Formats: sequence, structure tokens, C-alpha cells
Amino acid sequence: MRFLITGAAGFLGSALANALITAGHSVRAVDDLSTGSPDKLSKEVSFTRGDVNDRPKLWTLLQDIDCVYHLAARVVVPESVLYPREYNHVNVGGTVTLMEAIRDVGVKRVVLASSGAIYGNQPAQPVKEDCTPNPKSPYAVSKLAAEYYTHTIGSLWNIETVCLRIFNTYGPNQQLPPTHPPVIPYFLKQAHENATIVIHGDGNQTRDYIYIDDVVEGMIAAATATSVNRSTINIGSGRETSVSEIARLVVALTGNRPEIVRNVRNEGGPNRLCADISLAREKLNFHPRTPLEIGLQMTYENDPRIKQK
Ligand code: NAD
Repeated sequence: MRFLITGAAGFLGSALANALITAGHSVRAVDDLSTGSPDKLSKEVSFTRGDVNDRPKLWTLLQDIDCVYHLAARVVVPESVLYPREYNHVNVGGTVTLMEAIRDVGVKRVVLASSGAIYGNQPAQPVKEDCTPNPKSPYAVSKLAAEYYTHTIGSLWNIETVCLRIFNTYGPNQQLPPTHPPVIPYFLKQAHENATIVIHGDGNQTRDYIYIDDVVEGMIAAATATSVNRSTINIGSGRETSVSEIARLVVALTGNRPEIVRNVRNEGGPNRLCADISLAREKLNFHPRTPLEIGLQMTYENDPRIKQK
């Protein structure tokens, strides 16, 4: 099949692009390189630097494409609190621009990378796709709006659409920005250096951590599965783990004794979040295979940045 991936130079996009190439598909990629880097992409991926809001560029890139994976987005939750307009412009505006271009050119299916963040705090865990969203940040709102635009424009113009609510993905090459770094690579780096690990909140907040290869399998299945049109599907591990437990596992893995401090004044986000993945099992034959302990070990061993000074 012929795929276009937006945001293909990012953590998830580059892993997806390379997996599709390995499976024998043809992959076009677009990314504005605002945070991503094309270095990790296979040479067989046809890469173009471009903005997802550039409709003429999208028209060209969409020619003869069977399926679009839409991943281009701003992804840092605390940053979205400071710059909601920017998050709306890229994550919502970019999705509308892309869907308009897809309407003009004609593509069979679109798979949107949405987020488990749209659930916010929920009375019951694990969360199912039919519970009422409770977004708590501009990032989460932007992902929910992108879902609505994707399914609505898709149904108006007969384009198949699938929205995947992806939970906390980790693995080698995850973005590691100096401010607001994601928990797992940050903990691994601090533990490796025997430095201080700062936990925001009391550490009892839980998340559903899923290894990158498992997410990529779910995404690939979403391109060809039957009976998924207009579906919104959770992609998580189904295992609920507290942030303190991640710190404990990471410390044990490195064999070091970093100091762990809790910044209880800083909110750690929703108290609990774990995916119910029965719909993904049913519709995508999705069976995440990587236990957290193994995924952490593979991240530690295969991401050279963690051990770099
Ligand atoms: P990432 O930041 O590594 O990738 C996003 C990519 O989009 C970057 O390469 C960036 O340069 C690009 N981009 C940003 N603005 C753009 C624009 N205007 N035009 C073109 N490209 C642009 O993040 P990621 O973790 O790989 O996330 C990919 C997608 O998956 C995002 O849509 C994100 O919301 C979603 N998601 C990720 C996770 C996770 O845990 N990683 C969880 C849920 C959802």
C-alpha cells in the first residue's frame, strides 16, 4: 500500500514509517521538523519538509496515496497550557487543513493519532471509549476536536476514518526536551547518572504505559482492518502503573541509587488513567506483547542519549 505520514520525523511517526517500509509498503513522509528529526527514518522513506497547514503541498503529497496517518502535532501538555492558540492552530487547524486536502484529492482511509489525555479524570478505570471525555488541557481539547473533525469531514465526503486514542507511549528515541521531559526517558537518564529524580505530584497518579512497537502494531492494523470506519479505539497496554512504581523499576534496572524527591505542589495530572483495550482486541486483533519491565530494559539499552553526558 501507499502511505502518507504527517509528523513522520517524530517518535511515533519514524517508528511507524520504518515498520511500514520493512513490511514492503511505500511511504511518503511530511514533517516541519519543529521537534522531529528525519535522521531516524529509513532511506526508503520519501521525506518532505512541510507544514501540515500548507494545503497546496498536501495536495501534491496526497497524489496516489491509499491511507494517511495523521500524527503531526504539538504534544507537550504543560506547554499547551501556556500556548493554547498555537496548539489549536497546529492540532486542530492542521487536521482540518489535512482533511480538506484529502477531500479534494481523494484518499480511502485516514488514521488519526488521538490521545488517552482526552479522558482526564474518570470515575471508573479502565476507561472505555464510550465514557464522556473530560479534557483538562488545551492539548487534550485539541485532540478531541481533531477526532470530531476527522470523523465528521470523513463522513461528509465518504472518507474512511479511524481515531486511535493512544496512551503513554515509551521506547527508544522518545523526544527528550530540556523542559517537561516525558517520565520514562527522564527517569532513566537521571537514574543512570545517579542524579535526582523529581516526581511531580505525590507519585500515586497512575498511567497506562505502552511500548512503541506495540503501538506501531496497532496503528498498522488500523490501516487495513475491516469494520473500523468511524471507530475511535483505545491503544494502551491495559496495565495501570503509578509514577512511583516507574521510578522504582527504573532505579532497579540501572542498579544506581538516585535521590527521589516529590514536588507535591505541582499537579501530576489526572489521578488515574488506564485503557480498556477490549475494543482494540476485537476490531484490530490488538494484543500488546511487551511487559513494562522488558520495555524499560529495551529503552535503556537501545537509546544512546540516556547514557550520554
Ligand atoms: P513527536 O513530537 O515526536 O512527533 C510529532 C511530530 O510532528 C514532530 O516530528 C514535529 O516536528 C511534527 N510537527 C509538529 N507541528 C507540525 C506541523 N505544523 N506540520 C508538520 N509537522 C509538525 O510526538 P509523538 O510522541 O511521536 O506523537 C505523535 C502523535 O501521536 C501526536 O499526534 C500525539 O498527539 C500522538 N500521541 C502520542 C502519544 C505518546 O505517548 N507519544 C500518546 C498519545 C498520542
